[in-house]
Amino acid sequence: MKYPYRLDVLTLFPKAFSLIGEYGVIGKAIESGLAELHTHNPREFANDRYRKVDDQPYGGGPGMVLKPEPFFAAIESIPSRSRRRVVLLSPQGSLLRQKDLQRWSIDHDQLILICGSYEGFDERIRSLADEEISLGDFVLTGGEVPAMSIINGLIRLLPGTLGAPESLVEESHASGLLEHPQYTRPAEFRGMYVPDILRSGDHSAILDWREKQRKIRTEFRRPDLYLNWLNKKSNSNKEVDSSTNFSRNNIVDKEFGIIYPDW
Ligand code: SAM
Repeated sequence: MKYPYRLDVLTLFPKAFSLIGEYGVIGKAIESGLAELHTHNPREFANDRYRKVDDQPYGGGPGMVLKPEPFFAAIESIPSRSRRRVVLLSPQGSLLRQKDLQRWSIDHDQLILICGSYEGFDERIRSLADEEISLGDFVLTGGEVPAMSIINGLIRLLPGTLGAPESLVEESHASGLLEHPQYTRPAEFRGMYVPDILRSGDHSAILDWREKQRKIRTEFRRPDLYLNWLNKKSNSNKEVDSSTNFSRNNIVDKEFGIIYPDW
């Protein structure tokens, strides 16, 4: 892997990215040279004297469409690494998943993010991208917030960014299950107690409890993820754990002191 990991963003609003390198874990990673972030404004590549980046849609309709020339010229100006990936942000793309961030952080050393604005892209701009990604089934005014989400999620996966990399192993969406509940001091707060088992010092019992909690959480919050996890598990182990039989009636475990909201 070639470091620093190179992130390039095509955006009409480069200032929106100016704070990323200045705070928190991501800021530190950029400052320490694990990743570098470059913005490129297609407006600077517009070929008319008004620096026009949008125009009316052929065939009529509301709003303005982003012109191809400035986007092609902006991409062509970026130094290209051999393992680069170009991602176009669009509500029509595949939904962003943790596995995409893992894939880009491992298989690539340069990610170019293309942010749209206004009514979106001239269709030919899509040909610049290796893939199209959506942050969710909703429409934003521009690709900047999705691009920042990707930058944040990807940089935190780079080796050296997190002080405790083992937290990547059990966190939500890493292995197919959501993370187990977490507690810190005090042991009792406003009548809500930390489960005794977490204070018992019995590591093997704690591991069992956490595993069980991950399964319960995932089944009740995200049954779709839970089914996928069960399917994957049964494909690799040939056997689904038959002791795992959670129903909505048995999730309130008074012994462990867990308080579940009314789903
Ligand atoms: N007219 C477009 C459509 O219906 O598909 C939507 C254009 S949107 C107002 C402007 C830009 O914001 C898009 O080109 C895209 O870059 C970005 N955008 C909006 N919603 C997004 C989402 N859910 N995920 C990723 N990018 C999004």
